[in-house]
Amino acid sequence: MSQTIKVSNTRHGNPGRTGWNAILPEPEPANVLEQNVQADWLVIGGGFAGLAAARRLSQLRPDDKTVLLEAIRIGDNAAGRSSGFMIDLPHDISSDSYTGNYESDKKQTVMNRTAIEFARQAADEFDFNQETFDPRGKIYSSATPSGDKHNKEYETYLDGLGEPYETLDADDLRRISGTSYYTSGLFTPGGAMIQPALFVRSLAQGLHVSGAADVYENSPVVELKKDGSAWVAKTQKGSVTAPKVILAVNGHIQSFGFFKRRLMHVFLYASMTRALNPDEVKKLGGDATWDFVPADPLGSTVRRISGVGGDRILVRNRFHYSPNLEASDRDVAWAAKDHDKSFEARFPMLKGVEMEYRWGGRLCLSWHGMPAFGEVEDGIYSACCQNGLGASKGLLSGILAAEQATGTQNAYVDEYLAMDRPTRLPPEPFSTIGATIYLNWKERMAGQEK
Ligand SMILES: Cc1cc2nc3c(=O)[nH]c(=O)nc-3n(C[C@H](O)[C@H](O)[C@H](O)COP(=O)(O)OP(=O)(O)OC[C@H]3O[C@@H](n4cnc5c(N)ncnc54)[C@H](O)[C@@H]3O)c2cc1C
Repeated sequence: MSQTIKVSNTRHGNPGRTGWNAILPEPEPANVLEQNVQADWLVIGGGFAGLAAARRLSQLRPDDKTVLLEAIRIGDNAAGRSSGFMIDLPHDISSDSYTGNYESDKKQTVMNRTAIEFARQAADEFDFNQETFDPRGKIYSSATPSGDKHNKEYETYLDGLGEPYETLDADDLRRISGTSYYTSGLFTPGGAMIQPALFVRSLAQGLHVSGAADVYENSPVVELKKDGSAWVAKTQKGSVTAPKVILAVNGHIQSFGFFKRRLMHVFLYASMTRALNPDEVKKLGGDATWDFVPADPLGSTVRRISGVGGDRILVRNRFHYSPNLEASDRDVAWAAKDHDKSFEARFPMLKGVEMEYRWGGRLCLSWHGMPAFGEVEDGIYSACCQNGLGASKGLLSGILAAEQATGTQNAYVDEYLAMDRPTRLPPEPFSTIGATIYLNWKERMAGQEK
């Protein structure tokens, strides 16, 4: 690897306007890097991983200066576009019912919980409200016999792991959600629900205001160059010189020349309704907030939210393989048709309620769910590729990258370093064709779960 790394893809935007961010008050204008700065630590990327890395560095090295550079606005990135499930339990989205290998799932669950506890402490310290971070658990919802079967399989798996849950029937789900679409559910009390854009915006603000890190937005890094024992990161208008760099850029790690042809880039899509009026809220019934993750990993995530943007419903489905990390408004329109179908099937009492926001965002996956983690070049550490569980695993990889980079003893760092590297993918066009056929087939199999 040369000592000058030119970032090959600097198109960072995601398609569509994310409802989570749009319903919040306008943020302050971006603090753009327009000078040359010296720091002890540079974190690149302001998603779950980058924000966690910056916070962990501030805990481990309180007297050091940490700079975080983010290419776009925090809240408009994949973290802010997610559905806000901070999941503790096994969640292999390439499996039929989220299950994997007992031993590694057990370890990963403990590690995910460490990350969620880290988020809880940040929420306490920076005074997040309940809408921003709420450890209220979630429901695996099913609408078909095959979904019921997935829930049963997951239940058995949880028994084996000694994890608590509560089974729910169609009446329970109707009472909670107001719709009679669902046939069974599994409530798991762990993890947390977040308003994702509010969470990352609040965390970034907390870090900046408390002096834990200087956060710059709309400041994409275009080049990393070795200068003596330090790295100089160039943006369009400035630079940061630091001896150690944490790359928390999700699938864009390949744009920095690392893990090339080893990562799979997928876009996920969501739509959010306009605010329901009081009459519609009454017609819908059910609780003011609920969070359904599909029993079939390729089904629809559905959330009812009630807070700063009023009462709304979110529907998330459709996966789209995109090796060049790009998606367009046309792709959002393609997914939107399915969002509308899923919404109409579940909420006939809300006929005429239209979607106000529709968007897509990036997800990074690898074969066998291996993270793109570790020191990839002298003084450059990767905290990338969260394999579908970006909220908890993203936080975790940021924490662990900060610990590895500071030489902090932690068994979880060893655990992560002992994992295999993401395996090489088949050559193009075979990987795109294969992945697209596989995703389409799995989505068709999900049937009414979608
Ligand atoms: C619709 C949708 C729903 C989802 N739902 C969930 C969910 O409920 N639960 C869950 O756990 N996960 C969910 N995910 C996945 C989750 O959003 C991602 O896995 C997660 O955001 C990854 O976190 P991260 O910090 O690694 O990456 P990101 O959140 O993508 O952050 C990386 C950041 O790096 C920045 N960056 C990249 N290149 C540069 C550069 N050159 N210079 C500066 N900055 C750069 C990017 O702009 C970005 O902000 C969902 C994703 C989508 C799209």
